Amino acid sequence: MPELPEVETIKNQLNLVTPFTIKSFARSNVSDSIIHTKIDKLKGKIILEVQRKGKMLNFLLSDNRHILSHLGMTGGWRISKEKVIEKHTHLQLTGECDGEKIYIAYVDPRRFGHMYLYNKKDAQNKLNELGEDLKSPDFTYSYFKEKVLKYPERFIKVTLLDQSLFAGTGNYIANEICARAFVLPHRKVKSLKESEIKKLYKSVFIVIDGATETGGTTFAGGYADTTGSVGGGVNHLVVFYQKICQMCRRNEVKKITLGQRGTYYCPKCQN
Ligand SMILES: [Zn+2]
Repeated sequence: MPELPEVETIKNQLNLVTPFTIKSFARSNVSDSIIHTKIDKLKGKIILEVQRKGKMLNFLLSDNRHILSHLGMTGGWRISKEKVIEKHTHLQLTGECDGEKIYIAYVDPRRFGHMYLYNKKDAQNKLNELGEDLKSPDFTYSYFKEKVLKYPERFIKVTLLDQSLFAGTGNYIANEICARAFVLPHRKVKSLKESEIKKLYKSVFIVIDGATETGGTTFAGGYADTTGSVGGGVNHLVVFYQKICQMCRRNEVKKITLGQRGTYYCPKCQN
């Protein structure tokens, strides 16, 4: 599933073809399960910029409307000089950037993604459902500590996955944050010492920045960027999908299920 570093990579690539003047658009006949609002009056409008909050892409249009796009499990955007004919293409925008004809297409085999065309106020309301973005300057230590401690009875990893607290986390990121902080993911939040909360906070940046630099992380059959190529971030993982812990390079990684998600940890490095 695309998490913050992957969505950040896609956002940066989309911005290479903005401002993008929309000439026409087409959608698949099954796109209703992804696109939850009316998509209309796009012709002649300009995509000025693409922003991101958590895993939500935010296309700013010249008429003050916004396209919000959440990629779900298998969604992605393609940028191409030719019409995108890839299977599972659900929305295709034909347009122009710097006088060049460009196609921007949303592709999603499993169709768990979500898209909305909103006015400014509705877009803001939707984005306000998310907590601070992990890369935002407002994602401070005091913010992190307050939100982590909000639900003392929760498992640490489950709280880290809560998008209304921490926008942009996902399963691999939460696993890796716990590992790098030497904290077991299935401990209760209330058992955390202040020093451990500090380590968790620091680990957020190690995990996020490591993965973004390499263009996102790819697992079998998963994420691809707008060119369809896969990221190299998998090299940074220390426990997720690992047999041997990459911190001690000695002990076998254990896998359990927590909140219905595969959860990985090193029983020696993490306490
Ligand atoms: Zn270890």
